[in-house]
Amino acid sequence: MGIQDLRNHRPTAIVTGSSRGIGRVIALKLANAGYNPVVNYKESQTAAESLGLELEQMGTEYLLCRANVSAWDDVVQMRDQVLERWGHIDLLVNNAGIILDALFHKMAKEDWQQVIDTNLTGVFNCARVCVSQMMEQGYGKIINISSFVALKGNIGQANYAAAKAGIIGFSKTLALELAKYEITVNVIAPGFIETDMLSELPERIREKLIAQIPQRRFGTPEDIAQAVLYLAGKSGDYITGQVLNINGGIYM
Ligand code: NAP
Repeated sequence: MGIQDLRNHRPTAIVTGSSRGIGRVIALKLANAGYNPVVNYKESQTAAESLGLELEQMGTEYLLCRANVSAWDDVVQMRDQVLERWGHIDLLVNNAGIILDALFHKMAKEDWQQVIDTNLTGVFNCARVCVSQMMEQGYGKIINISSFVALKGNIGQANYAAAKAGIIGFSKTLALELAKYEITVNVIAPGFIETDMLSELPERIREKLIAQIPQRRFGTPEDIAQAVLYLAGKSGDYITGQVLNINGGIYM
């Protein structure tokens, strides 16, 4: 029996950082596939509300949740809201992330800390508050969004690379600890994906980056959301502790 067969309800999915970019498309694709998504954001309330409207028009039940993933109390509150509303957590997609780039010899301690707090401690916080519920249910899926930078390194991103590499060790350990509860934990490591994170780059830099990608294009949020659906569904029931690279060949 697959994990999906154990449930007789519409599955719920917390997607952190789903007001914009990759998270937004993940939430939409999950809603299309029959999930009730939790739209989480920190700053972009208008964008989150507009996604809510879109979900409403699709006839999808959803929760709008302002929570800073790096703040423990916010995350506890988000988990409690989900349980109060639906009583179960089927999928957690840890997607929220930031960049604060600088060459290492110029990197401010605050910028190191903020990136670690959001991109790594945020993943710990969300997984930690959801996992007891998933253990109780006897099923659950956790998908953590890392980056190819975790594996390859990238000039100006020591803080980001450290956080994203941390996610990989963290996820493999959780996969080992939670396998017996039918909870799978996997990582997606995207390459350059066309979102706000890239849009501020000057055209000259964008062209230089594209020249480094064997497939000669940036990825799209859909490329990532499709993989989330695969891992979250029945197709992913026997996949755990893996890192799925979706990067147009920039790192093999
Ligand atoms: P984005 O367009 O900048 O969106 C980031 C999202 O994260 C926003 O919804 C933002 O919400 C949210 N967020 C940021 N800090 C948060 C916090 N403390 N608490 C809750 N939400 C927070 O980024 P993206 O390109 O979609 O990236 C999504 C994920 O993919 C990130 O983990 C990123 O590192 C990873 N990734 C991206 C690329 C790429 O090229 N784009 C490549 C590899 C990996 P608010 O605006 O409401 O704060």
